[in-house]
Amino acid sequence: MKKISTNPDTLQRFLFENTPVRGNLVNLTNTFHMALDKQHMPKGLKRALGELMAASALLTATLKMNGSLVLQIQGKGILKLLVVECTSEFGIRATAKWNGDIHDEQNLFELIEHGQFVITLDPKDGGQTYQGIVPIEGDDISTILENYMLRSEQIETKIWLCCDGDTAAGMLLQKLPDTMNQVTQSEDKVEHDIDAWNRAGHLADTVTDDELLYLPTETLIHRLFHEEDVRLFEASNTKFFCSCTRTSVANMLRMLGEDEITSILEEQGKIEVNCDFCNTHYEFDQVDAAQLIASDLSARGSKEIH
Ligand SMILES: [Zn+2]
Repeated sequence: MKKISTNPDTLQRFLFENTPVRGNLVNLTNTFHMALDKQHMPKGLKRALGELMAASALLTATLKMNGSLVLQIQGKGILKLLVVECTSEFGIRATAKWNGDIHDEQNLFELIEHGQFVITLDPKDGGQTYQGIVPIEGDDISTILENYMLRSEQIETKIWLCCDGDTAAGMLLQKLPDTMNQVTQSEDKVEHDIDAWNRAGHLADTVTDDELLYLPTETLIHRLFHEEDVRLFEASNTKFFCSCTRTSVANMLRMLGEDEITSILEEQGKIEVNCDFCNTHYEFDQVDAAQLIASDLSARGSKEIH
């Protein structure tokens, strides 16, 4: 019998009372299907993207940001790119690029050569975009992320991810940075915090993929941490969301420049663009293209004047 998620498409935060340890749990079911069902790709890639999608929601929940988080695994081997974008409202999209044969059961990390992990924070309100790029360290997605968080952000993080091809789920634990100066903190307090962090990690480590994917959040929290004082917050919903619009595609085309646009038109009579993430088809005919070129020229003109 097919298993059904008891808490589909939810992100739920929790914290351990009186300790600097917090966590999140995520389940992506419809979100996963909406994002990937229309894309034809090997099953192993879908499962990896499912894990990366779960990870993106878990990390987004730890950020105080209005905008989007983009996680990319880039490689120069058969696997070129896994990319996931998650907005602060947990709208998620994902896609992959590869070149060559990938078996359904293949370990993806054998397909990545000279890989790097790229994390981008893109604030919606026009703030500074942040980008971190590190070589891939580790042979699964959770290890890569844990290493990144520790090395680049100095935040101790533990992440559990799984995707069975139908549902993706994950859990994150994070040790909050000390709010007080180490010097003014008593040794007892420091030791208590380290103990609490280690204990939470050991308890969480007993989680199985099946529990993560299919247990109701409250049951899972109770099963893992029943001797701890855990506060569970209200769940947020996740959903599939693609930010592409005709305007954003037009802006991208404009960047190609007049010569490129004219040459595509001469060859094909129109310009066709398919969004990799949501499969939406955009078409620009001769008239649309002329408008693109005209607005590009006026944009350049106005830049020269100022
Ligand atoms: Zn799209």
